[in-house]
Amino acid sequence: MNNIADRILQIKSTLHDDVELVAVSKFHPASAVKDAYDAGQRIFGESRVQELMMKIPELPDDIRWHFIGHLQTNKVRQIIGKTSLIESVDTLKLLEVIDRESVRAGVVTRVLMQVHVAREETKFGFDCNELIEWFSQYRYSNLKATHICGLMGMASNTNDEIRVRDDFKRIKECYESIRAACRKNLIGFDTLSMGMSHDYPIAIEEGATSVRVGTAIFGERVY
Ligand SMILES: *Cc1c(COP(=O)(O)O)cnc(C)c1O
Repeated sequence: MNNIADRILQIKSTLHDDVELVAVSKFHPASAVKDAYDAGQRIFGESRVQELMMKIPELPDDIRWHFIGHLQTNKVRQIIGKTSLIESVDTLKLLEVIDRESVRAGVVTRVLMQVHVAREETKFGFDCNELIEWFSQYRYSNLKATHICGLMGMASNTNDEIRVRDDFKRIKECYESIRAACRKNLIGFDTLSMGMSHDYPIAIEEGATSVRVGTAIFGERVY
């Protein structure tokens, strides 16, 4: 067995059945994706439109691609109908464009709203309170072809486990507040994507239903 397969199986053996593993294959070649696929992995995460579009035709059709990077509105059209989930909706403008392009393509696009809690200025995403308010006003009911399935978030990039755990707790609280605010109207809002290679066990303890693991499966990325 190759290393990628070994690592996939090892990580999977530590996850409960109800936690989804997204193998983040960005910056790794299609051959590495195929190794993971052959080990049974079907969900892969990519963060660049061009790279995703190059990999799709080279790999099996039953792969479910998650888009996890910052998505520019002018590139939305290219990926509509090609992803099983866009995890990184970070502005209302982007949400609007995804919805419009989904209507145009005659598909329903599944998305997560990205929340920002990490204490680094450069990270994308919504402020939790802003998002709770938006949901509380049932603003999502205007969407025609977009299904909001939950939230995605990242913890601060630090070895301080207490701070990482606190960030995950805040993302989870945001998720629960939205669910409580929209109890009757928001259907299928059940995905909480948080945790990466170095912190996914903590994310799971704090309620993640989906983890995005790259380096721990594919090794270091060469940018
Ligand atoms: C790259 C990336 C990951 C995976 O990071 P690793 O540390 O390699 O596991 C997860 N989530 C997002 C949003 C990413 O951009």
